[in-house]
Amino acid sequence: MDPARQNAIIVGGVNYSDSSRVIWAITPDYGRQSFLVKGARRARSKYLGCLETFNHVELIYHKGRGGSLFTLREVDVVEHFSGIRRSLDAFWAASEAVELVKSVVHEEQESNDAFGLLLEFLRQMDSPADPAAVKTLLAALRWRLAAITGHEPQLVDCVRCGTRLTHQEKYRFLPAQGGIACNQCGTVPAGGGTDQPPALLVSYPALRFIYRSGRKFPPAEQTGTLPPEVLKEVETIAGRYLAYHFGETARPAGSQPKTGG
Ligand SMILES: [Zn+2]
Repeated sequence: MDPARQNAIIVGGVNYSDSSRVIWAITPDYGRQSFLVKGARRARSKYLGCLETFNHVELIYHKGRGGSLFTLREVDVVEHFSGIRRSLDAFWAASEAVELVKSVVHEEQESNDAFGLLLEFLRQMDSPADPAAVKTLLAALRWRLAAITGHEPQLVDCVRCGTRLTHQEKYRFLPAQGGIACNQCGTVPAGGGTDQPPALLVSYPALRFIYRSGRKFPPAEQTGTLPPEVLKEVETIAGRYLAYHFGETARPAGSQPKTGG
């Protein structure tokens, strides 16, 4: 059987036996994939330094008969992103992005958009600016990922009555309903929805950032960083919204990424 070839981003791995490792990768065509790397733990392994988390690589592997664990034959590093490992802020944000993408991408699922988003994010993190710019980009990634996975919030028309929203200073964001409600609908509790998260007040600049982030990464006309108070709003809403729609995927902003894996 001819070997298969895949563009991939390494997102983690575990040791397997004394000499081998299993690595996890995000690929455009097949989503999350696992590969057995024989001899990866040997001192003179040809894979040394090639299979680190964040690496953009080309994998050449054999498909097994059945099962989803493939055997790696060769790897070429396309981009190493050494800049990410030189900045604590960039490293933290890149780890967070990897966890987020890993949690929404499934095996054997076309994931071209999520792959492209993660790759672009890692490129941005490779030459990071100040910590606020890193946080702004991470916030943008969360909203773009929501859009890619079919959870783009409704921000133009009221989520309850469909009326076009008018310009105002603060809008009412309803996480469970998936977007903004008009002033009439936003103040009336949903029928029997006592277990639903309450409406969050969101400013126009925060709303605009969420809207633009959903369409494109990095968001259009977004140069540099959001003002701290707007960034805080965007992060709070992302935390509540993604927690509601993705479950535990979205940890509160500022929490530490999961270790290991
Ligand atoms: Zn309404």
